[in-house]
Formats: sequence, C-alpha cells, structure tokens
Amino acid sequence: ERFRYWETRKIKTTCPYCGVGCQMELLIKDNKVVEVAPSDGAANNGMLCVKGKFGYKFIDHPDRLRTPLVKKEGRFVQATWDEAYRLITDKITAAKDEFGADSIAGFSSARCTNEENYLFQKLFRAVIGTNNIDHCARLCHASTVAGLAATLGSGAMTNSNLEALGSDLIFVTGSNTTETHPVIGSHIKQAKANGASLIVAEPREIELAKVADVFLQIKPGTNVALFNGLMHVIIKEGLEDKDYIRDRTENFEELKEVMENYSPEVVAQICEVNKDDLIKAARMYGKADKGAIYYSMGVTQHSTGTQGVMAVSNLALLCGNIGKESAGVNSLRGQNNVQGACDMGALPGYYPGYQKVFDSKAKKKFEKAWGRTLSDKAGLTITEVVNGLDEKTIKILYVMGENPVVSDPDTGHVKRALDKADFIVVQDIFLTETAEYADVVLPAAAFAEKDGTFTNTERRVQRIRKAVNSPGESKPDWVILMELMKRLGYGASYGGPADIMEEIAALTPQYGGISYDRLEVEGLQWPCPTRKHPGTKVLHREKFDRGKGLFKPAEYIKSAEVPDKDYPYIMTTGRMLYHYHTRSMTKRVRGIDALYPESYIEIHPVTASRLDVNDGDKIRVSSRRGSVVTKAKITDGVVEDVVFMPFHFYEGGANYLTNSVIDPIAKIPELKVSAVSLEKL
Ligand code: SF4
Repeated sequence: ERFRYWETRKIKTTCPYCGVGCQMELLIKDNKVVEVAPSDGAANNGMLCVKGKFGYKFIDHPDRLRTPLVKKEGRFVQATWDEAYRLITDKITAAKDEFGADSIAGFSSARCTNEENYLFQKLFRAVIGTNNIDHCARLCHASTVAGLAATLGSGAMTNSNLEALGSDLIFVTGSNTTETHPVIGSHIKQAKANGASLIVAEPREIELAKVADVFLQIKPGTNVALFNGLMHVIIKEGLEDKDYIRDRTENFEELKEVMENYSPEVVAQICEVNKDDLIKAARMYGKADKGAIYYSMGVTQHSTGTQGVMAVSNLALLCGNIGKESAGVNSLRGQNNVQGACDMGALPGYYPGYQKVFDSKAKKKFEKAWGRTLSDKAGLTITEVVNGLDEKTIKILYVMGENPVVSDPDTGHVKRALDKADFIVVQDIFLTETAEYADVVLPAAAFAEKDGTFTNTERRVQRIRKAVNSPGESKPDWVILMELMKRLGYGASYGGPADIMEEIAALTPQYGGISYDRLEVEGLQWPCPTRKHPGTKVLHREKFDRGKGLFKPAEYIKSAEVPDKDYPYIMTTGRMLYHYHTRSMTKRVRGIDALYPESYIEIHPVTASRLDVNDGDKIRVSSRRGSVVTKAKITDGVVEDVVFMPFHFYEGGANYLTNSVIDPIAKIPELKVSAVSLEKL
C-alpha cells in the first residue's frame, strides 16, 4: 500500500494474536490499516513479533464475510440479518420446547473481547437457559485453571511479562516460547544474556534449548516424573525453603513421602534424559533466589495435564518461589484473550470471576442481576459437546469465532459429529472449515473494527479500539449477541462495550475496579477489586487465595497411548512462529503464508534413513484415528522415535491423528502424545 505518513492517523490497540498482549499503533489511511508500529506498553516494552508487525493484512482481505449466509439445498446464499436472526431464534425456541435448553450448546471465543464473551455466556445462561458453554481454553489451559486453583486458589499466571528480566534462573518447560510467545521469549533470551541461568525441558531442541545451561530432552508425556525427580533431589540435598514451607504451605510431609520414589536413576530412565543433567538442573533451581517457571501446553495437553500443573506448582512452592517478584509459576496463555474468556465465564461450570454455577449464593446473585432463573447444573465441555452431537443429545451448536474442525483432536470424529447436528450457527470473520458445516453464517467485525478489551496472559486488561469500519453488513460480535438476546425476548440494551464492562465490574470481584476511563492510558492487572486499587502485578504475595499453598503430590502415569508394533513412533504437536492456530488469519497474509504454506512432519535423520525418506519427500502418517499425507522435514531437533507436527493445517493436518482421550479432571485432550506409523510414498 502506497501512503505518506502525513496522510495517516494512528490508533493504539492490542495485538490480536497471542496472549502476550503487545500494544501497537495501527496507521490508518482512509478506511484501511496500512501499517503497524510497536507501541510502548507494560506488556511488551515496545516490541512486536512478525505476526504483530505484519499479520494485520487479513483485515481487508477479499475473503471477509460481508453478509449473513443461509444454507439452502446444500449451498450458501446471501441473506438479510432479519432472515438469519429469524431462522436462529425459531430453531432455538423449537429445540428448547421439544428437547430442553440443554440440547443447545455454544463455543465462545478466545479471539473475541471480554465484553463479547460476557454477553455470549449471558445469552446462553440467562436467555437460553443452559450452562453448555465452553471455548478453546479446554484445549490449552483447562488443566492450569483446575491445577493451580487447587494448589494456590487461583488458576492464572502468578507474575508479569517483564519480570523475566529480573529472574536469576528461568526454567522453561512445555513451551516453545520464542515461537509461541515471541516477545516473552526474547525477554528470556535477554535475561540469559544478562547473566540469568536457563534450564529447558522439552521433547524438541527448541531455540531456547540451544542457549540453555541444561537442556533435558524429555520423552513426551513424562513431565510429572521429571518435576518429581527435581523435587526428589532438592529435598534429598536440603535445598528446599524450610521457612516458606513452614509458614506458607500445607501437606509437605505427604509430598516428601511420594517424592521418595522418584530418584534420579528412576526418573532418568522414564524421561530418557541424562541423570547428571537432571541433578544439575535440580541444584540450579533449588539454589536460585528468584527462580521463574514458564510453562505452556507441553505440560497441560495430556491425560495427566492437571497432575503436571500441580507438580509444577509443588516445585515452585518447595523453593518458596510463589508470591515473589521475578519468580512464580508462569502459565503462558495462548490466544489474545483466552485469559479473559475464562474470566468472563465462557466455561461450563463458572459464572464470570470463577463463581461456581452450582454455588447457591453465586446463582442467586446472577439471577438477581440478570432477572432470570438459572440452571445449577454444570454444562458440557467442548469434547463432551462433540460427543453429544455424535450421540444426537445436542441438537444445536452455536460457534462464535472458533474453528473446531481444525483445532480439536480427531478431526474425522469432529466432522462426523457436526454432520449429525440439527442446526449449526457460525459467527466469524471468514468462512472457516467449521463454517462450511453451518446452516447460518453471521459475519463479524475484526479486532480493528470494534471497541472492547482483551486480558493478556499476565492478567492485564487492555483496550482495543475501533480504527476502521467493518466490511459490508458485518457487525461487532457484541452487537450481534445483543440483537439476538432481544429477538429471544430478553431486554438487553448496551450503548457500547464500556456499558458492558460496567456490568462485568459489578458482578466480577477481580474486575470490580476496572472501567474504560481507567484503561485509557495503560491496562490494569486483575485482581483489581475497587476503583482506587492499582491492580496486581504479583499474585499470592502475603497469602494465597486459598490461604496456604497446598502441596498436591502427583504420581507419574504413562500417556494413554504408547508406541507399539503397529504404531511405533510418538507424535507430538505444537505451534510455529509464523502461523496462528487454524491459520484463518495468517494464511491470508501473503508474506507470512509464503514461508510456510503447507503441513510437515519433523523426523530424525536416523529414522528417515531407516524409512529411506529424504527431506521434502511425501510421507503418510497414520494413527488409530486417521491418516494424512504430509512432507518430511529431517532434523536432529527431535529424537529417533519421536516425530513432531505443527497443528495449524487442515490439509495434511496433525489433528486427524491426535487422540481425544481426556484428563478426567480438566477434560483437556491429550494432544501432545499419539502413537503413529510412517510410510514413504
Ligand atoms: Fe502479537 Fe504475541 Fe507477537 Fe506480541 S508476541 S506481537 S502479542 S503475536
């Protein structure tokens, strides 16, 4: 786009990609975003990654949805808003009458604003009458919400983005930070360059592993054993923080007893790492003054994900690293507003602010505020909804800004289940792979076309601001939801997202002091309970949300699927720097997509030569769920019996292969470990 700077105006906003929440300025000429520049902000210190800087070009892509679409005889035809709304309300009313409100389910969106997530769950709870609402946090950090809530009382990142710069030891595990949270990754590299020590425990030799003091290349699915092994050494060598354990924690004796079984010899064998490296890492973490743990989906996406999170929490408590600046348990949240979507109650068991739907006091509070009788039965999670569609107990699915056909495990099963739905609504900015299954598609506004707030990984609530008009007849999600509520007979009238935030603040203790006037200059980190409260940088400073920190010893349990004769390799999945999630945005940014236009599988050179596969060869990858053809990428970054696939792609996509078995507590699927076979084509 040719432009002169004096022809442009600037609008400050928040990056729409990952949970780091970088602040940026959109340069606007007429009704078009022509450039993005980094902006100073407490979340990013004036930095942006490639997606923030160049990933905005999807905004005015010709594929944007411009009008509602209704499927007639298997084809989408343009419709008016009135026609689309009428169809949706008729179907919802009929399903409610015939099968009850629990036959309807909704997937809310970690891409949308807090205000939109709040309205989505209000539409489902107060207007439709069901708690069947979930969103993609189920696939990423549901185990963090469950695990940390049990041990610390609050399931969120304990510290703040920039605090990595002050740590004297950083332990990165289950996170390819430089690719998935690039600005935090660069802060970790900066801390290392300034003298901090770095431990990395990952199945792949990620960029941070190359500069780490100790790199533990663990076998996928063995995190719990690893964390227990570190604690075993720390306790044996007396490196635990005895005063902290005495004053601020409970249940240490049980932890000590369980850790007894995890000697370095045992753990080195389970995790397939060097015993001396394990001991070295334990001593480094045990002796650090400010030891920070950064983790993400490599810990959470397992059938034992909640145990993995609890084990991380045990380790940090053991060394007194929670409630301290530049230390903590830093769960890196994936999407731009996945923290906010959880905070807003887009979860089947919680109202906004993690108030439980089956708690009678909380239920009464929301019934009074919303003027409707509410259900006290926890709703279904994403995987349960997909099973419900398959079993025909769920009749209607409403998807706002999610793409389960690409993001959820076992794509074949997801597609078969969607085929069985009576009626599907998809509200999005593009016709995604999931929207193809819809009966009605509603065109929504993108982040640059509306006002609102996102909450980033460090719990910071930040503004997004309308910079350009949305294309055609598309509307902001909050407007669509408000109009639907009215059509369903519920009197909702908000002048704008600021009004919705007032309602959120009145009902959500952590957001009690948050309002748009206070967010004008800088974001605020929750808990921020009152108008005068400055926000909270470090959680659990004086006491834990549950009083004392609880040691919850976790035993190592093998992954649900282990390699065998038919499927001899472990496949693990992850993300890459250039694409974002299901690529609905990044595949429409030409420069970015040109770098990685198709799916691939990383294979070790020895495995490749055994299969007679060369770099770039086509290869068939099969699991018990399905089979895909993709391209071989030969690298010694993985070990011989482990392969890696990014999950962003639909064609040749990893999720055709992944296992939908779930963690029984958090109900998160085991996306990180599947057994596969490889065949050269
Ligand atoms: Fe956007 Fe995340 Fe990159 Fe920051 S680090 S620019 S928030 S994608």
